[in-house]
Amino acid sequence: MLRTFNKNTREYNLYKAMYENQTYEFAKSKRQFYSKLNNGKMKMSKALELMNKYIDPSDPDINDCNLIHAYQTAERIRQKYPTNYEYQLCGLIHDVGKILYTFGEPDWAIVGDTFVVGAEYGKALVYGNLLKNNVDINDTIFRTKFGIYSPNCGVKKLTLSFGHDEYLYSVLKNNKNHRLSEKYLDIIRFHSFYPWHTGGDYSYFMSKEDETLKQNILDFNQFDLYSKTDEKNISQETKDYYKRLLEEYFPEELDW
Ligand code: FE
Ligand code: FE
Repeated sequence: MLRTFNKNTREYNLYKAMYENQTYEFAKSKRQFYSKLNNGKMKMSKALELMNKYIDPSDPDINDCNLIHAYQTAERIRQKYPTNYEYQLCGLIHDVGKILYTFGEPDWAIVGDTFVVGAEYGKALVYGNLLKNNVDINDTIFRTKFGIYSPNCGVKKLTLSFGHDEYLYSVLKNNKNHRLSEKYLDIIRFHSFYPWHTGGDYSYFMSKEDETLKQNILDFNQFDLYSKTDEKNISQETKDYYKRLLEEYFPEELDW
């Protein structure tokens, strides 16, 4: 399903604020701040519950709370990969970084497609013309093709606009008391990087191993997209199934 975006809508206004405010300095400082994990301790199951109060304003296709989206994504993965529990959990928690809203972060620092900061903007960005309002566009280095990076440096070396992807990645990377492996951490980290994985931008930053990463994300993406025909009533049985999985893979509290 292709997402369509129109002017003067909820998501247009979100991108307007995002493109104006997500500068290189902003993204770098948020990343540094949140990597310290100084925002309390909480179990993954509790953080997931907080998704029942968040509706993603960046998506034109959805008005349900993110908790429903979490179960739907996991269930779609389970249908195709019934014994890949890690992948199912990845689907369940991939958007939990949106708990940034509970720390008072504005929507434009939580959601929306991510893009590279510190180098020329890609061509495939939603409402990309609004980036003219970003001060970075006048920076003599940032506005060059490679900016502060080098060709084929690998996408993991890039700083992206800050949001729920990078935040949850950092939580999972820096807490060692869970069983979700690197492959799924990387999918979480770059799942909103649409200009790259779907738009075809920034290929000149890719290293050899990034091709596998991209394929993993594209596989995940088919389950992440919303579909209006999906079941919104999550059965108790389904909830219990994921509760057990969460207990197994995230038995303890994490630092957030
Ligand atoms: Fe997301
Ligand atoms: Fe999602």
